Amino acid sequence: MDRVLVNILSYNVDSFSLEEAVEYAYTHHGQIVTINPEMISAAKKNEHFSNVITSAEMVVPDGIGVEIGLKILGHSVKRVPGIELGKALIVKFSKENKSIAMIGAKPEVIDLAVKNLKEEIPNINIVYSQDGYFKDDNLILDQVVAANPDLVLVALGSPKQEFFINSLKSRLPNATMIGLGGSFDVWAGVVKRAPKIWQNLGLEWLYRVVNEPSRIKRIFPTLPLFVLKVLKERLCHR
Ligand code: UDP
Repeated sequence: MDRVLVNILSYNVDSFSLEEAVEYAYTHHGQIVTINPEMISAAKKNEHFSNVITSAEMVVPDGIGVEIGLKILGHSVKRVPGIELGKALIVKFSKENKSIAMIGAKPEVIDLAVKNLKEEIPNINIVYSQDGYFKDDNLILDQVVAANPDLVLVALGSPKQEFFINSLKSRLPNATMIGLGGSFDVWAGVVKRAPKIWQNLGLEWLYRVVNEPSRIKRIFPTLPLFVLKVLKERLCHR
């Protein structure tokens, strides 16, 4: 299977379905970025972050923002929510007897997430888990490398998780690694995902803002500015 890329504000995004993304990630390894408008805006101001995204082995449109942006540019690509891709990768890698490392979230959250996943997924083999509030990055990086996992799930928020994975990449060349934001909180059961109807309406972001009003700062003015930039790109390329 080859990558079919579409471009948004100079970033390539894969147009895989969820199932194709799992298959590609399983067979090709490397870094998966679950991209959203906040990350694109941050990357425009941070060259290192921009390079990390550009050099990723797979970039999936995490939310409705990038899906809408791509639509404006004439690309019909469905979003692949990171939390769903993360879970599907765990299921696939476990089925194939592969090992998993999980890094991120608060200590009680990662413990609960690991416990719940072990109950839910037969054959799961978590060889390393670590909360996301460590001081010494190098120590944790060394520990992950020593555990030699096939799948690495990192939930430190963005761009921390993308930098962390980027530092691991050359040291674990045969692993598949993905940044998963707040997914461990959901798997631990301490945060609820929006009900399906909100998800289907593309309003998961609104549900998160309603439940955690401080998130509004992340969305405004970033989201409307993102849409304006995409519209400008569309006008320039007519
Ligand atoms: N986190 C962490 N270490 C940090 C900062 C954040 O492990 O130094 C965790 C935090 O506990 C949460 C996740 O990273 O589980 C970030 O969640 P958020 O909802 O902010 O993610 P995003 O919106 O970026 O997907």
